[in-house]
Amino acid sequence: KFVENTALITQHGKYSYSDLLLYSANFAQKLNTLSNKAFNKVKGHVKEFPLEGERIAFLCENDMSYKVAQWATWMCKAIAVPLCKSHPISELEYFVQDSGACFIVGTEDFKSKLEPIASSLNLPLVLMPEDAYTNSSAVIGDDDDAWMNSEVRKHLRDGLNADEYKKKRAMIIYTSGTTGKPKGVVTTFGNIDAQMQGMIKAWGWRADDSILHVLPLHHVHGVVNVLMTPLYCGAQCVMLPQFNPKLVWESLISDEPRVNVFMAVPTVYSKLIQEYDKQIASSTPYLPAEPGQVLKEKFRLMVSGSAALPQPVMERWAELSGHTLLERYGMTEIGMALTNPLHGHRVPGAVGMPFPGVSARVVEWTESGDNTTLVTATSNNVTVTPGKEGVSGELLIKGDNVFQEYWNKPEATAESFTPDGWFKTGDTALYSDGVFRIVGRTSVDVIKSGGYKISALDIERHLLAHPDILDVAVIGDPMTLDDLRGWAQEKMAPYHVPRLVTCLQEMPRNAMGKVNKKQLAKDLFP
Ligand code: ATP
Ligand code: MG
Repeated sequence: KFVENTALITQHGKYSYSDLLLYSANFAQKLNTLSNKAFNKVKGHVKEFPLEGERIAFLCENDMSYKVAQWATWMCKAIAVPLCKSHPISELEYFVQDSGACFIVGTEDFKSKLEPIASSLNLPLVLMPEDAYTNSSAVIGDDDDAWMNSEVRKHLRDGLNADEYKKKRAMIIYTSGTTGKPKGVVTTFGNIDAQMQGMIKAWGWRADDSILHVLPLHHVHGVVNVLMTPLYCGAQCVMLPQFNPKLVWESLISDEPRVNVFMAVPTVYSKLIQEYDKQIASSTPYLPAEPGQVLKEKFRLMVSGSAALPQPVMERWAELSGHTLLERYGMTEIGMALTNPLHGHRVPGAVGMPFPGVSARVVEWTESGDNTTLVTATSNNVTVTPGKEGVSGELLIKGDNVFQEYWNKPEATAESFTPDGWFKTGDTALYSDGVFRIVGRTSVDVIKSGGYKISALDIERHLLAHPDILDVAVIGDPMTLDDLRGWAQEKMAPYHVPRLVTCLQEMPRNAMGKVNKKQLAKDLFP
């Protein structure tokens, strides 16, 4: 029976799909009862779905408790707001407050973190009883053809037609806050469905896959790609409590539990490489000298994304594991958008083509705020404006995968779409040699220097090839000296253009405030 298949394996044990459903349904009932008690007492009537449309913020371990909190929230017809366990209290409080959550849910482990937030925002804190997710194994239902998601959908769909269901808000996931304060991205069930379908088609997800999960559970990568998609397919997810290089290596190598798919961010791969180098040099290595001999056959897919994959990491990982990482591009607002192929050549430094169902466009903006298209593409069709191959511009995305709105930010939502409905990613990209490449975030990674638009990510890639550089981040100098030199060349006779231009924190000045040029010469040419 499908529902008896293992859905999750955590440090506490194995859980079947029917365990998941039972625990979630029980917890949903508890939340509904609490809500009726807390909010509807005065009116004296009990609602069937008192939490409909409300937000429930939850902080759980990377284990069954997370999945139960998420599904229970949906069974209550509420919106899930997953929190991050490594965030400090002040940040957690921002997410709870910004989302306007009516309940904070958490496991006992996080009681001390959540209590101050609950009391400062005057919200009920619901601690999950441990036996709601650590032991099993009552079985409900006898639906042998159904899989769990269709079970959950039955609850969710109640009284809704297909279109209403598609637009129903499922989650608020906060962006990483790289370019400003994190924004709450409202994702509907239709968006998540489209995102999962894209990955299933592009990456060939199967019911007999088993994925190793080592990522945080408050970002689209850890939530949708690595947890929801396998469960949507009836596959298995093996969750580690957190990322730990030794634990991950052991899980990758081990036969029990079986895993054959791995997805992570580039830093996870670099840390695994460092761990390998460190432990293989030790007197008692726990890894075989050539882990690739085991991993090559054992795994069918290894994916990297969420940030640019440096080429040296890609190359070294291929040597160690026997797998060429499949790099893809995505963001909170759109889920996954561009991917290298499952079969076929994976181009280093590139992110391939759109996922099935996703349309991509690269545009140039004019002074007046209009745009001209350089490239338009879907998963199997590309149109390049003549002469515009390799020219960079802003990447726009359209498709059912694209989010509905930023939570409580109607202006930010309006600004992030073109009048004809394309989402403006804020990333600069280009199309060349049959693939898309990400130049970087337009606001921080595209550096103008000497008349060129340079990608900070490209410079980082080059610098990382140096054996002594472990990590690097390149940022633009707001006033570039090359710009100044270029300007001087236009204005001055060639023999007047300064040969050396440099920046100082402060000019050396004498007591009268005059520049001390002798001192300056000494400082610059000691
Ligand atoms: P905020 O929107 O709050 O500033 P953020 O954009 O970092 O934060 P996320 O949605 O988590 O939040 O990250 C999406 C961004 O990650 C993309 O816009 C892109 O800049 C970057 N990114 C994702 N995948 C890749 C990739 N393969 N190569 C380069 N950049 C990537
Ligand atoms: Mg962003």
